[in-house]
Amino acid sequence: MHDATTGAAKPDNPVYRDWRFDVDFERIAWATFDREGESANALGRRPREELMWILERVEAGARDGSIRGLVIISGKEKGFIVGADIREFAELKTEAQVIEALQPVNQMLDRIENLSVPVIAAIHGVCVGGGLELALACHYRIATRDDATRVGFPEVKLGIFPGFNGTARSIRQAGPLAAMQAMLRGSMIRASVARAQGFIDQLVESKGALRWAARKAVLQKRKSKPKRGFTGLLAKWPARGFLAGKMREETKKKVREDHYPAPFELIELFEKHGGSYAEMKREETAFFAPLMVSDTSRNLRRVFFLSEALKAQAPRDLNWKPKRVHVIGAGTMGADIAGWCVASGMEVTLQDLSPQQIEKGVAAQAKLFKKKFRAKPRRDAAHTRLIADPDGRGIARADVVIEAIVEKLEVKQALFKSLEDELKPGAVMATNTSSLKIEDIAEPLKDPGRLIGIHFFNPVAQMPLVEVVRGQQSRQQEVDKGAGFVTAIDKFPLVVKSVPGFLVNRVLAPYMMGAMRRIDEGEEKEKIDEAARTFGMPMGPIELADTVGLDVCAHVGQILGLGNEVAGAAKLVTSGKLGKKTGEGYYTWKDGKPEKSEQARFGNGELEKLGRELVEPLIKEAQRALDEGVVENADLVDAGVIFGTGFAPFRGGPLHFKANERANAAALAAAE
Ligand code: NAD
Repeated sequence: MHDATTGAAKPDNPVYRDWRFDVDFERIAWATFDREGESANALGRRPREELMWILERVEAGARDGSIRGLVIISGKEKGFIVGADIREFAELKTEAQVIEALQPVNQMLDRIENLSVPVIAAIHGVCVGGGLELALACHYRIATRDDATRVGFPEVKLGIFPGFNGTARSIRQAGPLAAMQAMLRGSMIRASVARAQGFIDQLVESKGALRWAARKAVLQKRKSKPKRGFTGLLAKWPARGFLAGKMREETKKKVREDHYPAPFELIELFEKHGGSYAEMKREETAFFAPLMVSDTSRNLRRVFFLSEALKAQAPRDLNWKPKRVHVIGAGTMGADIAGWCVASGMEVTLQDLSPQQIEKGVAAQAKLFKKKFRAKPRRDAAHTRLIADPDGRGIARADVVIEAIVEKLEVKQALFKSLEDELKPGAVMATNTSSLKIEDIAEPLKDPGRLIGIHFFNPVAQMPLVEVVRGQQSRQQEVDKGAGFVTAIDKFPLVVKSVPGFLVNRVLAPYMMGAMRRIDEGEEKEKIDEAARTFGMPMGPIELADTVGLDVCAHVGQILGLGNEVAGAAKLVTSGKLGKKTGEGYYTWKDGKPEKSEQARFGNGELEKLGRELVEPLIKEAQRALDEGVVENADLVDAGVIFGTGFAPFRGGPLHFKANERANAAALAAAE
């Protein structure tokens, strides 16, 4: 027999590797997805092929009456399906290949949808992307109310949108508003919300109740009652055109079409073909294929793999699970580090010389907990896990001790000297210093090899990267544990050498100083910032300098030996204009926003040129950092700069961008 999804011949007695398949005494077929050798279920080529075997078997069983229904469920502890297998995307190099690859998958989903017996998706944990598209082809969807259960379409983050006919099926199921929002935002939707929106038909309290509910749904031949997706008013003209216009407007506020075309293409697909299910389904591939082979998507996929590479810096076989953290210093950084650790499930003691400072720091975390924990019991539990500890009682019990006190060498040295004997064996001892050398702080210690840096960025809750600093003497095991701790609190670790500025501040400084110098030379600040955004930076360098604080910038500049170059900035600092925090810096700040003069005056060409010039010092410094071995390899440099500075993700990182540019120039020269 021929397999439609892969072209491979179907064996007579298929041996499943990624699925388990059985038919129980009630004639219910159970397809349990449990991908071999992987912690998560990605719907790659082999699992799709095996699903096709299952489908053929169920079709035959439905015909001869030996099967009365099919349940698709996951065999993994935590997740349902994380989507298609991104690792396989790179094999698709041309639009024609994409179209060819999609066709059989879409045919398979149609056949699932057309089965004459009920097909139930039983969902616990993450069900996103291609996984949700498969679930939407089922007749009925049951999910656990568990906090870990989320559905969503994260495809836009990879520069594409759903391509297994999920655009049409989600609109049919949840209506254009909720479906388009889900696809455009790429956010993860909680089970209760997904139920209200129509993505899910039924909720059960726990994983244990899932199989029973699925069985009942088969026996009762339950069928989803979708929203009025394509028959409702919003899918009709002129409402659809109006809705598309609104969505375009909203999307433009967040991303630029030339940088991130996927959401705009999706809106166009909906605008043109969203009046009919069949038409939307048919046209999806034509809009999808060019995106899939675009540079943007390729680079965004690269960013995904880079994030994996960062996580992989924490060895898997660490055999060490941090649970308790002690933070010393409850200022700007310490309090937020403590709050973040608590939000990630840790128990945290927070110490400071000033009890008022601890109180203030603890109180400030209420906002984060409110955002992270909607349910009151979980929020209350978080508050209980954050313990004010003026006497440092938590030190001896902590798995990780992080120091975030004043940036003074002698003070830090004295603190660690007093701490050294108090820490329990095996606990990590770390400093959050941004400018001192780890080996200098460690100098008076009995065991200097124990100290590492764990360098968070401000604001802690928003910055995904944390640098794990290896001092000259730091033991590998401590660095490993540092990286393990950072992944345990859901951040990306980047192991860096103890050099001034580590990686992130080191590459940011010449970029920002360069921009500030241009102001001294008469360039307009609005133009500089707009040019950087045109390149793809999330915020212009001048606005960034004001946000960070001009005093902080000056300090970092000094450490890196760039100190007195920017006269304008120095003057502002002397006159107390430190940026956002004082209400004035390069910009005047009102309600947390800089006041900018009209920007439409600048031509796109000049902005583009200036944007590239502005990032040049950053790219050069990134290369130097690589040459000096500040991080292990070029990919990790790119990863660090993207996640530490927001460097235009769709460009794939500074070094990748430069290499690409060189290759393009060479190709152009060769063609001439
Ligand atoms: P901060 O001045 O806001 O807070 C420091 C706190 O430490 C104060 O509350 C102070 O009372 C307390 N403190 C001082 N000495 C102490 C001691 N011996 N024992 C206990 N508490 C003590 O400082 P910050 O901005 O939070 O910076 C803290 C550390 O983090 C510094 O090493 C800094 O370089 C680093 N850092 C800061 C940033 C930033 O953006 N602010 C970013 C990354 C790293």
